Amino acid sequence: MDKPIAIIGAMDEEVEELRESLTDRGPVCTPLPNLPLSTGNLGRQAVVVCRCGIGKVNAAMATQYIIDQYRPTAIINSGIAGGASKKMQIGDIVLGTSSMQHDFDLGEFGRPRGIIPRLPTSVFQGDPNLLEVAFHAARDMLPAGKVHQGLIVTGDQFIGSKEKKEEILEFFPDALCVEMEGAAIAQVATANEVPHLIIRAISDLADDSAPQDFEQFITKIVPVLNRILARLLIRWVNRTRSARHSANR
Ligand code: SAH
Repeated sequence: MDKPIAIIGAMDEEVEELRESLTDRGPVCTPLPNLPLSTGNLGRQAVVVCRCGIGKVNAAMATQYIIDQYRPTAIINSGIAGGASKKMQIGDIVLGTSSMQHDFDLGEFGRPRGIIPRLPTSVFQGDPNLLEVAFHAARDMLPAGKVHQGLIVTGDQFIGSKEKKEEILEFFPDALCVEMEGAAIAQVATANEVPHLIIRAISDLADDSAPQDFEQFITKIVPVLNRILARLLIRWVNRTRSARHSANR
């Protein structure tokens, strides 16, 4: 079997449709408690699809498990997020050029918010090749104004008030969106030298109506995200196969 790409989503609502659309699908297995995994193909790409659960610890645990067991060539974290930057609207797509943990706070030691000491970096870079194919895949589906690339910030909190959002923007003025898993997946992928990309669709604007918006829009925007993922994988397969072909000539 070709080595898979791992697709990790936090909640069933984010991975169900993907799981259903797998061909050559193996049975759902849960090797760790509460970590359902499915293998199969999406188009011509072997994948392992995982629902990791909400938050950084669940996300990190799942990522390391998948790397150890499946040796994926790349990891994609797909899901929904709250818009942070004023540019964001519900339904927009954000591709993470980088990610950070907004709730990592050693301010008492004079360290800027999000800085994790004693690591080579606290800013985890999305893979440029994945970013490029993801951008084209998203632009196949959506107008330019709805596809953004930039910083994604992660923390173990649902951001649902103007004050909380503004506090995060004070420390991370470039943040496009907030969510709860991306930078944890990115940190583990980076430590294992596996390329990764975070792709998020905006479900709410991280303000007072965020919980209601989240519930209302999740079912509408996840299918769009999944269509972008399918296109991304087609482009990825074509790209890696043509690179292999020219290397063999
Ligand atoms: N309704 C859920 C909780 C959802 S937590 C329950 O109680 O079961 C929110 C999830 O969506 C997280 O996985 C996070 O990554 C993403 N998310 C969407 N909007 C967010 C926001 N405004 N702040 C933080 N995470 C958000």
